[in-house]
Amino acid sequence: QQTCIIIGASHAGAQLANSVRKEGWQGRILVIGDEAIAPYHRPPLSKALLMGDKTADQLEIFKPTVYDKANIEFLLNTRVASINRADKTITLEGGNTLTYDKLALCTGARVRKLDIPGSDLKGVHYLRTLADAEAIQRDVSANRKAVIVGGGYIGLETAASLRKLGMEVTVLEMMSRVLERVTAPELSDYYTKLHESHGVKIILNAQAQAILGNDKAQQVQCNNDLVLDADLVIIGIGVIPNTELAAAAGLVVENGILVDEFACTNDPDIVAAGDCTFHPNDLLGFHLRLESVPNAMEQAKTAAASICGKPKAYHALPWFWSDQYDIKLQIAGFNKGYERVVLRGNPDSNQFVAWYLQDNKVLAADCINSSKEFMQAKKLIAQNITVTDAQLADTSIEVASLVT
Ligand code: FAD
Repeated sequence: QQTCIIIGASHAGAQLANSVRKEGWQGRILVIGDEAIAPYHRPPLSKALLMGDKTADQLEIFKPTVYDKANIEFLLNTRVASINRADKTITLEGGNTLTYDKLALCTGARVRKLDIPGSDLKGVHYLRTLADAEAIQRDVSANRKAVIVGGGYIGLETAASLRKLGMEVTVLEMMSRVLERVTAPELSDYYTKLHESHGVKIILNAQAQAILGNDKAQQVQCNNDLVLDADLVIIGIGVIPNTELAAAAGLVVENGILVDEFACTNDPDIVAAGDCTFHPNDLLGFHLRLESVPNAMEQAKTAAASICGKPKAYHALPWFWSDQYDIKLQIAGFNKGYERVVLRGNPDSNQFVAWYLQDNKVLAADCINSSKEFMQAKKLIAQNITVTDAQLADTSIEVASLVT
């Protein structure tokens, strides 16, 4: 019988395994992952899990019975060391070799490390895996001080969660505003004020240069002679796609493993999906790498269809969410290349939309506590509908009425 091997047991890997069975794969399906447990949801790691509102056993992506029914096998705690495309085998760390007929790379991304003195002290953490989150939880202590390096989504969500747990929290952001890479200044200002209103201190233009302490972190030293006391340090400065296996096997890698609209690499027997891919998006008209659960799940379905010889082009608008305090941000589209931002509603009301426009088309929308507008924004963007700034800004006009 034929074997489909999936490397990476997370959002993309779990979905791909189930979808490949649904698409009619008759042979063996083996998912190999280097973490200790079956695929789990990562988004709650900085949110519900960290705050103690959810436990680890509530994070599983699919129940064990789902994998059993689909006859999906797992090899966990196991790292794939190399791929040999000539004889269609993979080699595990430890030396065992397995043969595949179809191979899927769902290797995701890993945290970017901060290479400064003291960054390996106890009490310094990153956040990508359940093991990371559990290690942070062990170091959380109310009324103690936490310093978070990086004002991106992970840093800000973690700040909100630690604040809820009673820690004194400072966020250091090296740019002149938080979320600089991903949102307009209006959103950065909104989030800075939101965090400040909850007692989080945000220091901009601040770069951590060393973590001080004997065996355990005690202080973070920044530029501008700033030294902050810290019982707990969390570094959230982005991720790097895991592309080394693919590159060593001679697959084309750009800002991620290069795949086409069918999630196929330059090897007809190897697909890739999720955070590790650099892929075309027909709705946007360019290639990109996304770090989001919806993309991992959608692309996995596309890859599964290709494995089964039923190619269906990936056709999904990017979307993302972030939860901080009682504020839900939902983002539709991708704001690259926007010319201006139009606000609908007042940020002070904690319910508003920031529209990103190019000419008279919406590229993206950041929707704060505005789920209805988010649903309509997806349609406005995907259907490339012509709008005016005045229409988008006017809260007396239902966004739904602009969608044809
Ligand atoms: P990953 O989840 O990175 O999984 C890849 C897996 O492959 C990992 O387990 C890795 O260890 C394993 N692996 C890699 N190389 C090998 C190898 N050689 N051998 C064996 N195994 C290997 N996204 C959202 O859309 N919304 C959110 O609110 C959100 N919040 C987040 C909060 C946190 C704290 C984090 C960390 C992420 C968040 N994300 C969020 C991002 C989301 O989790 C990722 O986009 C998603 O996990 C990508 O799934 P993936 O399967 O592509 O990759």
